[in-house]
Amino acid sequence: MTTATISTSTAASRALFDRARAVTPGGVNSPVRAFNAVGGTPRFITSASGAWLTDADGNDYVDLICSWGPMLLGHAHPEVQAQVMAAVARGTSYGTPTQPEVELAEEIVARTPVERVRFVSSGTEATMSAIRLARGATGRDLVVKFAGCYHGHVDPLLAEAGSGVATLAVPGTSGVPASSAAETLVLPYNDRDAVRAAFAAHGPRIACLITEATPGNMGVVPPEPGFNAFLAETCRTHGALFISDEVMTGFRATAQGGWGLDGAVEGWVPDLMTFGKVMGGGFPAAAFGGRSDLMAHLAPEGPVYQAGTLSGNPVATTAGLATLRLATPEVYAHLDATATTIRDAVAEHLGAAGVPHTVQTAGTMFSVFFTGGPVRDFATASRTDTRAYAAFFHAMLDQGVYLPPSAYEAWFVSAAHDDRAVSTIIDALPAAAAAAAT
Ligand code: PLP
Repeated sequence: MTTATISTSTAASRALFDRARAVTPGGVNSPVRAFNAVGGTPRFITSASGAWLTDADGNDYVDLICSWGPMLLGHAHPEVQAQVMAAVARGTSYGTPTQPEVELAEEIVARTPVERVRFVSSGTEATMSAIRLARGATGRDLVVKFAGCYHGHVDPLLAEAGSGVATLAVPGTSGVPASSAAETLVLPYNDRDAVRAAFAAHGPRIACLITEATPGNMGVVPPEPGFNAFLAETCRTHGALFISDEVMTGFRATAQGGWGLDGAVEGWVPDLMTFGKVMGGGFPAAAFGGRSDLMAHLAPEGPVYQAGTLSGNPVATTAGLATLRLATPEVYAHLDATATTIRDAVAEHLGAAGVPHTVQTAGTMFSVFFTGGPVRDFATASRTDTRAYAAFFHAMLDQGVYLPPSAYEAWFVSAAHDDRAVSTIIDALPAAAAAAAT
């Protein structure tokens, strides 16, 4: 059984990090895993179970990263594990159509407004392919995105992106051809006037507008009421496609993703949607989907080419299907209650310590900005006190709670976050708030 024993040793992680840096840039295979923004050594995790991570030194941590979203049910869920093991025993990839692909596609179609989906292996591929499809279907080139929204590391979408691009303050367009960046219009989030002006100036050339259903990659910044509906309508008026990126929010923010928070209530539907993370159950699986007539532009039905050797991989689709089938209303109710308890406690302790902060939420997702006042876009998110966050982060880590090593990320809970995990978090807060205050 996992116990919250934190030794002071990080020697094994440090030794692995030294070896990793020699053979991998920055010692990590995705920049968000690095501790550049908070200082110190990332922990090398050797196993995980339920809400807990165990590192190479034998330290246990309550996990508030959850693999950056996918682990909705917690780590090593017995039923998901059993189905994955059975799938592995049947062979790991065939390069032919399989039944789990059909069943996962049916499950996604049943839970969201998309009519057909195509599977890929990462969220980046999903957004890249959705944009190609939008360009192919409209015969136009320009893409509109919002500053602080992250849609993967695809060239035209890196401009002023959130997530690791924001955390490391790297120029979003380094290595991206100027011609590609020139086809992306970047607007401030939640700013209707900016959207109106962009469409007034460039409407006939805009293929699509892509937005996170509710942004989580600059921290959680919910759309102001009616903003997504306004975007959908603006796109419709100008003959552009509205792409809602649900890679992070899909099957996570609510059972119906971010769309469950507004679209399902207000009655609008995106032209295309992208999914990833939860739908892969911890394996590389992602998807894009939308109206049937739009999806018909894709090869082999239509002329827009898109493909993948491991797309719809049988092990990944089995894990995703098992995860979605186990994601019952009770699971979402538990996530909601757990997220509420944690964010209320964080706000209480930061408030008591006099640390300026703002807690924002979107369904079961939330984040804590170390700045006062509402955060409505990337400019206001950027006011966050990253030094205070680094102190808070390390105090939590030292007490056995693994937060995202960046002040601009959502915090994720799972169905396995039980009373013991939550009390470990709450017990760590007074010291962490005090550290952030100094
Ligand atoms: N879109 C959103 C909203 C994301 O949050 C992410 C990843 O965090 C991506 C796309 C890219 O997904 P992946 O990292 O699987 O390429």
